[in-house]
Amino acid sequence: MPEDGVLRSLDRSDLLNRLKEIVGAGNFTTEPAAIRLNGSDIWSAGSGSLLAVVSPVTLDQLASVVAAVARSGLALAPRGAGMSYTGGYVPVTEDTVSLDMSRMDRIIEIRPDDMVVTVEAGCTWASLHQALAPLGLRTPFWGPMSGLVSTIGGGLSQLNAMLGGGHYGTSSESVVALTIVLADGRILRTGARGADGNSPFYRHYGPDIAGLFCGDSGIFGIKAEITLRLIRAPAHEAYASFSFKTGAALLLAMAEISRAGIASEMCAFDPGLTRVRMARASLASDVKTLGAVVAQQKSFMRGLIEAGKVVRGGRSFVADDDYPLHVICEGRSGASVAADLAEARRISAAGGGTEIENTIAKVIRAVPFPPLNSVLGPAAERWAPVHGLTPLSQAPAVFEALEALFAELAATFDEHGITLGYLFTGVSTNALIIEPVFYWPEQRFPIHEKAIEPAHLAKLPTLPANPSATELVEAARQRVIDIFARFGCAHYQIARTYPYMESRDQPTRDLLASVKHMVDPTGMFNPRALGLDVTNPAKR
Ligand SMILES: Cc1cc2nc3c(=O)[nH]c(=O)nc-3n(C[C@H](O)[C@H](O)[C@H](O)COP(=O)(O)OP(=O)(O)OC[C@H]3O[C@@H](n4cnc5c(N)ncnc54)[C@H](O)[C@@H]3O)c2cc1C
Repeated sequence: MPEDGVLRSLDRSDLLNRLKEIVGAGNFTTEPAAIRLNGSDIWSAGSGSLLAVVSPVTLDQLASVVAAVARSGLALAPRGAGMSYTGGYVPVTEDTVSLDMSRMDRIIEIRPDDMVVTVEAGCTWASLHQALAPLGLRTPFWGPMSGLVSTIGGGLSQLNAMLGGGHYGTSSESVVALTIVLADGRILRTGARGADGNSPFYRHYGPDIAGLFCGDSGIFGIKAEITLRLIRAPAHEAYASFSFKTGAALLLAMAEISRAGIASEMCAFDPGLTRVRMARASLASDVKTLGAVVAQQKSFMRGLIEAGKVVRGGRSFVADDDYPLHVICEGRSGASVAADLAEARRISAAGGGTEIENTIAKVIRAVPFPPLNSVLGPAAERWAPVHGLTPLSQAPAVFEALEALFAELAATFDEHGITLGYLFTGVSTNALIIEPVFYWPEQRFPIHEKAIEPAHLAKLPTLPANPSATELVEAARQRVIDIFARFGCAHYQIARTYPYMESRDQPTRDLLASVKHMVDPTGMFNPRALGLDVTNPAKR
């Protein structure tokens, strides 16, 4: 447990020695390579500097690390796998300490009787899914596409879309309880926790305290342990894909499929993203994918038939200018899944969609957590998505406004080799995510090299620095965010990129500032993320 006592100012070397002592030499580093890696996310390097990377392996170590850094007056930047791109964990002050949560990755307890599982925050979505599958269990939301490496703690700190999201909403909607380390090293536990106080089974007992820490971009405390709800893994699944002639027609159909509540996952691309996917196709990844498609089916013969269809469907079944939509339905009975899929077909046909090979929908389920090779474009270009959650009724209008912006920027983008695509996703029965994605020639960061499989990385060229293209992308990204703000959109991954505090009413801002004052009075956790600045009263 952390030591008690009055805050005192340790000098830098005292602090480093203390941190090393707490976690052990093997879980502490000041190596320049580690500092560089943790100092940038997929979008940008921080404006500050990192002093050290500390990787606790137990709750006690974590609490002691947090308390020691608090005494020093420095900032602490929690980091899961680093797979975000909105400046959440990058340093913005000198001598920030990077808190690497990836070694607190245990699955603490699976309790099928109570239908809950407790993990450490650094556990990946893929490891949890793999541990639950043999028991016939699953979490309702079960991961983002980055879940091979991205952590459950990171996913709750900034919220997630994707696997299971159509039926069960975002990652935080599957939370039962959290164990949080506050800035002074005290430990806060949420939820109804049973007679021993350590067997969480239900989220709601009074005000929803867990909710305060979900989507907080890590500014209210460090998630140490997380209890999630379990469901029995759905016994049946089915897939269909459709092609639409316009983005507006696609979004109208997606909105109606959302209202009907029939898709466990649904995602769509524009022609730009389809072109990127085609360019990325490689034989090696296709062979691996086909193996996974075979393995996913209940019998080997059925697997071969499905894999054969994938091969015949190839990657050329989407017309160049079309918008393909991929829908996955799941449920307890084959009949209900078939009925859901039939309804998706009816809605798509009524909206002008044509059914196409369901290859991609099938592959999403066969390889739910693919390698992270898409952190760079097919020719090693930099990649940066920016997104907004829109009300179902507004999605076509938001898309039209974005298209007008991109038409205005088209000539400049062409000149600088900047290309664009869109990813569209459904979340629960009441929001669509519109996610423009930029690709541009620019040198990569160490984090890209860490994320990509070595064999894939070896095939990619190394691009030179290209600050003028990056500046244009930065400006365009901000204009996209301004359009989302005009429509009152919400965002995941708020961090230091999307407008949060400034979009809240004064009572909400006051409430958040008071909470922050209680849990982190000096503002040590990810300073200024969410737009909350404890040193600037105007920003409270
Ligand atoms: C190829 C690719 C595909 C992706 N696909 C999806 C997708 O399908 N859906 C989706 O929603 N996102 C997706 N993402 C975005 C991103 O991977 C996710 O948002 C993911 O949740 C990030 O998790 P992480 O562990 O890497 O968190 P990090 O990036 O390390 O951290 C994210 C934020 O959480 C904070 N944080 C991390 N751990 C803790 C903790 N224990 N306590 C307190 N704060 C903490 C950090 O300070 C930071 O602000 C994708 C990214 C990539 C690169």
